[in-house]
Amino acid sequence: MREPGRWERGTSVVVRYVGHADGVLHARPHVVVRDDPELLALYLPAGTALGLSYDRRLDRVSRSAEERAARAQAAARPHLWRDFDVLRLMPPGAAHSTWLFWRDGRHLGWYVNMEAAYRRHDLGVDTTDNIVDLWVTPDLEWRWKDLDELEQRVERGLVRPDEARSFRREGERVIAAVEARASPFRDGWERWAPDPAWPIPTLPAGWAELPGRESDLNRGSPTDRASGSAPLPSEPRGGP
Ligand SMILES: [Mg+2]
Repeated sequence: MREPGRWERGTSVVVRYVGHADGVLHARPHVVVRDDPELLALYLPAGTALGLSYDRRLDRVSRSAEERAARAQAAARPHLWRDFDVLRLMPPGAAHSTWLFWRDGRHLGWYVNMEAAYRRHDLGVDTTDNIVDLWVTPDLEWRWKDLDELEQRVERGLVRPDEARSFRREGERVIAAVEARASPFRDGWERWAPDPAWPIPTLPAGWAELPGRESDLNRGSPTDRASGSAPLPSEPRGGP
């Protein structure tokens, strides 16, 4: 696939969560903060409209027409990112991204989302959510989130045991970085502030039609994927 050029600071791009077994594609517009070989940094301000798109042909978990209708209805509702300003740090090739949360300018902590290494396209990047997360407080106390959900998905055959182990190992590497006060936790990002001239980012036309929504980016082929969709964070649950 062609590697599009890097994005200018201030550009709107979309982060899509693809390959979810429930057939729902999640799309979140962000403002580009930095895009270089070390880091893609993206900003999601409170008040941003998100996109969800449901494709019943890709839904492998709903068990009835009613469930499929409910998913379609839920995806069709407007979704607004509320309350929190988020800076998302995505090192190329990393199987996680680190999100700093602020409310009214106060740093609340770091949410580490395990996810497949991102893949670029013309409108932004695609990734696949890997269920488990970490919450890291401003004074760098950490805790796991959703380990029980990962276990349930393995039991249901939606995630392979080796995949679950690799998702956990990724989190353990981040925990080691937290405990060592390593990057990005020592880089001063908590004092970062957006350019006040940036508008609220908007979803680019064609975000739902762009190819690739069926691909689990943890796997080589879209036909042998199994991971289900995890609830993406809408707030730092369990946070301060
Ligand atoms: Mg997650």
